[in-house]
Amino acid sequence: MTTRQKFIAGNWKMNGSLQANAALLTAITQGLREQPPACKVAVAVPMPYLAQVQALLAGSSVQLGAQDVSQHEAGAYTGETSAAMLADLGVRYGLVGHSERRQYHGETDAVVATKAQRLLAAGITPIVCVGETLAEREAGQTGTVVARQLAAVAEALGQQIEKIVLAYEPVWAIGTGRTATPEQAQQVHAALRAQLASAAPGGAMVPVLYGGSMNAANAADLLAQSDIDGGLIGGAALKAPDFLKIIGAAQA
Ligand code: PEP
Repeated sequence: MTTRQKFIAGNWKMNGSLQANAALLTAITQGLREQPPACKVAVAVPMPYLAQVQALLAGSSVQLGAQDVSQHEAGAYTGETSAAMLADLGVRYGLVGHSERRQYHGETDAVVATKAQRLLAAGITPIVCVGETLAEREAGQTGTVVARQLAAVAEALGQQIEKIVLAYEPVWAIGTGRTATPEQAQQVHAALRAQLASAAPGGAMVPVLYGGSMNAANAADLLAQSDIDGGLIGGAALKAPDFLKIIGAAQA
């Protein structure tokens, strides 16, 4: 049986500077040279730093990621970045549907699905984020909310859904220090995997990452769950020792 390789992706959000990025990535790539990872690793960085980070990551096993992409192909969309531009800069992964984009930029399920299509068409793997708010969890709606968010992307992509990476990120756990328990996360991951399996022949093999205050102390327990294939890491991805510990906890 083929196993799903673990995957740790950092999301820097709107953090960094030329100097800070260089220091952080020097420490991370050096750490990974000393202790080669058993998992795939990527960092999703702010758009202005893509070229810098592409250069800093040359020759390392860490892949370049973006945090967003335009839903449009090209043209008069001031301020937007197209999937083709990301591909030009060597971007391999692109976040879509992060809860901060859904919440602060009004991104709907349909927009998220279009963005995922744009990335795939440019040869970039979308990391599709889904997750419920605290109010939705307390109302017992977790399963329906994440299923709806995933279904919108599955409908748009058809069989290509098996080419995505999925991230379950409960909104109430992002940046709050409040993590889903391994059991809570596992339950949602298992349901998402079943949904993926019924959407495409290779759907069960789609990596399903957990995100939401994953850190050096709690990563191993979360990653030990049978349907948690890795992590999408915000705050802890900005500290090299913490990010390296999380990578170390992700065995194949
Ligand atoms: C995220 O930004 O996707 C995230 C999970 O953030 P944090 O790890 O800081 O909760």
